[in-house]
Amino acid sequence: MDAAESDARRPRLRIATTSLAGCFGCHMSLLDIDEHLFELAQLVDFDRSPLTDVKHCGPCDIGLIEGGVCNAENVHVLREFRRNCKILVAVGACAVNGGLPAQRNHLELGACLQQVYQFREGLAAPQIPDDPELPLLLDKVRPIHEVVRVDYFVPGCPPPGEALWKFLTDLIAGRTPRLPYDLMHYD
Ligand code: SF4
Repeated sequence: MDAAESDARRPRLRIATTSLAGCFGCHMSLLDIDEHLFELAQLVDFDRSPLTDVKHCGPCDIGLIEGGVCNAENVHVLREFRRNCKILVAVGACAVNGGLPAQRNHLELGACLQQVYQFREGLAAPQIPDDPELPLLLDKVRPIHEVVRVDYFVPGCPPPGEALWKFLTDLIAGRTPRLPYDLMHYD
């Protein structure tokens, strides 16, 4: 059996992706795998993801999480992913250790909000947003492993597309993912 036949016989995996407190740069990096996207589309189906219009994560093989946890909605979405995904992956610095959003952890949350929404010059009607529909902010931005169990961590800001492709092809083929050191960089 050649490799193409072997791929055709392999059951298709289901993948979900989401961004919590992130900038979507890690998702852009996934798009950076360029022509491999066609190969990926042959191997997997996408559940909840910016690539689909699915609103809730259903049962999946792999969940890719970008971004840290900064509010109650992030906690809810992250727990839904953990419940539904056999393998949960922290993708990028924000998911792995809080990343850039966690820079606010050095400040008291109330002072931070006042600085942004009340004391900033030029605001027409300074007021801290308090609509009940807005998700409640956490006092600190957390890496995702502080909220749920995480199976794999892919470092980088963002991880390069080649790193994500190597990682995913290992997982899809049933191998333990191994990233060469030169694929783990932060630029
Ligand atoms: Fe954006 Fe970097 Fe965070 Fe990814 S790790 S969401 S690229 S800031």
